[in-house]
Amino acid sequence: MTDPAFQTAAAQLRQAGLRVTAARVAILETVRTGDHLGVEAVAGGVRKRVGHVSLQAVYEALHALTAAGLVRRIEPAGGPARFEGRVGDNHHHLVCRRCGAVSDVDCVVGRAPCLRPSDTAGYVVDEAEVTFWGLCPDCRDRLVDDLSDTALSDTAAAVSPGAPSTARGSE
Ligand SMILES: [Zn+2]
Ligand SMILES: [Zn+2]
Repeated sequence: MTDPAFQTAAAQLRQAGLRVTAARVAILETVRTGDHLGVEAVAGGVRKRVGHVSLQAVYEALHALTAAGLVRRIEPAGGPARFEGRVGDNHHHLVCRRCGAVSDVDCVVGRAPCLRPSDTAGYVVDEAEVTFWGLCPDCRDRLVDDLSDTALSDTAAAVSPGAPSTARGSE
């Protein structure tokens, strides 16, 4: 295989001391080209590339890749874990309460003020995780549409914080 992306992923696996397998390379590539994918979505992408792989194998490989620092795992409260290939820059996330969409937010490069709490209580801080919750542009537009043609009480129920995935499947 001479695909440069494959070569890069394989070299990085080797460098991290991990055995290079077609499935692991496919997982790394899927996570990198995806956008904060859940485990099922990663498994789907991997199967498209290399054929059948069990969900358990994907879980285990993601765990190893995360531990090696090649993949970053985020877990917005109340939602399943998501995986991304953007690692090592301590960036943050915007999460939509309604549909679960996730977007990256850059840290202030060079200053990372979030890494300097007002009081560290003696801890050595090496990571800060900030999650901004709100409505993504699509859900906000939909909300405006809803407001114009349905009762206000329905809309209020649809965006309550306890019901994060009510919009799923309504496309
Ligand atoms: Zn949304
Ligand atoms: Zn991210």
